Amino acid sequence: STAKSDAWRADRDHFLHPYTDFTTFQDSGSQVVSHGDAMYIVDEAGRSYLDGIAGLWCVNLGHGRSEIAQAMGDQAQQLGYFNTFGHSTNTPAALLARQLAERTPGDLNHVFFTTGGSTANDTAIRLAHYYFNRLGKPKKKKILARNGGYHGSTYFAAALTGIHGIHYGFDRIAEDIVHHLSAANCYRRPEGMDEAQFCDFLIDEARHRIEQLGADNIAAFIAEPVMGAGGVLVAPEGYHRRMAEVCQQNDILYIADEVVTGFGRLGHWFASEDRFGHVPDILITAKGLSSGYCPIGAAVFSERMYEVISKPQGPGGVLSHGFTYSGHPVSCAAALKSIELYEREDIFGKVRDTGPYLQQQLKRLSRHDVVGDIRGDHLMAGVELVSDRDAKRNFPPDLAAAEVVFGRARDYGVIVRPVGDTIILSPPLIISREQVDTLVDSLDQAIEDVSGQLMS
Ligand code: PLP
Repeated sequence: STAKSDAWRADRDHFLHPYTDFTTFQDSGSQVVSHGDAMYIVDEAGRSYLDGIAGLWCVNLGHGRSEIAQAMGDQAQQLGYFNTFGHSTNTPAALLARQLAERTPGDLNHVFFTTGGSTANDTAIRLAHYYFNRLGKPKKKKILARNGGYHGSTYFAAALTGIHGIHYGFDRIAEDIVHHLSAANCYRRPEGMDEAQFCDFLIDEARHRIEQLGADNIAAFIAEPVMGAGGVLVAPEGYHRRMAEVCQQNDILYIADEVVTGFGRLGHWFASEDRFGHVPDILITAKGLSSGYCPIGAAVFSERMYEVISKPQGPGGVLSHGFTYSGHPVSCAAALKSIELYEREDIFGKVRDTGPYLQQQLKRLSRHDVVGDIRGDHLMAGVELVSDRDAKRNFPPDLAAAEVVFGRARDYGVIVRPVGDTIILSPPLIISREQVDTLVDSLDQAIEDVSGQLMS
């Protein structure tokens, strides 16, 4: 059963993988995933695994959906591609733009299509600058982001990203433009503060930073409603609403990066308004938009921004931004079908049941000394491992504690995601209560198995 396939060898020799630790990769290579069915993926040896991470927080409707495949195939046959640069459009892109406008909050009515989350964030920043330039405020350039935030891997999306480790070996750009505020990390908040005081602290920090930098120099603030790759950090009550007020008072655009939190992960189309009570100026979506079946992202803009962006200008005054695959008909067809399925199957209603159930079941893991914190919202959860609970001290990085738990859980047939010292869960939204039990039981057993090894 350990005989390696041709695909495994081709992969190891030629596929330069994203986000990969090559010290281990050279020997073990990658597991070849050959197919998927609902909550499960199957590798080429025929072993099946419960997918606890929806591929990479995206396969929200589960694997092997023939209706999505059918919609993509039909569209490829009908029109595989034609550009959307103003003179032309295509039916799925047009209809999807309207469907998004109807589902995003407030007056977010104008959709710029991209190829994924990183390009959608880049688009948001470019158009924020464009907007202020055209308003006659060309000094408004700076962007406030947050430590722990993840916004992607294009050069500028990486510059927005506030996770230290992932800048290793790379150059930083735009350090005069991007300024990082503190993460809304309730677990590691300053000693002696309760959550409400921590919220005040974060808002005060933002106000002071804006004063220091000058509101006239700041274009936008970007934040995930719940920080994802930074370890599933849920901000204190009221944080986003109050940050939105601070932004508004200072003419700073609020960009909600809903790449992970959109399309039902927190039980609603989008989390900004329905979970956290505010309407951003720009909303970023990707991943669940097509349930991961096709690459697609979008930046959705307010009426107020659209009026300025679309105002006719003199010679040369065209909006020179876009991608070959902006509004790709096959991706848009996959997204339209996904939206139809989310609605027809009341997927988000199910998440409002299974989400709290997952969070409640995960509490069981606190019986392990190595579990420092358990947190999340609906079907987005993080379990942070510590070597010392009282001191909230993480394990030495070379122990790769979360990676060890990941490996053991995989032995039990469930896939979780190790990020730093946190184990992340973000299953497809079709997960049943029984499958939640399986996921948590297996993780519980995996942690029990490796606790001794980690603590020794
Ligand atoms: N923003 C957030 C919050 C993400 O989690 C991700 C990817 O995980 C991105 C942006 C980048 O999206 P993509 O990988 O599609 O470019």
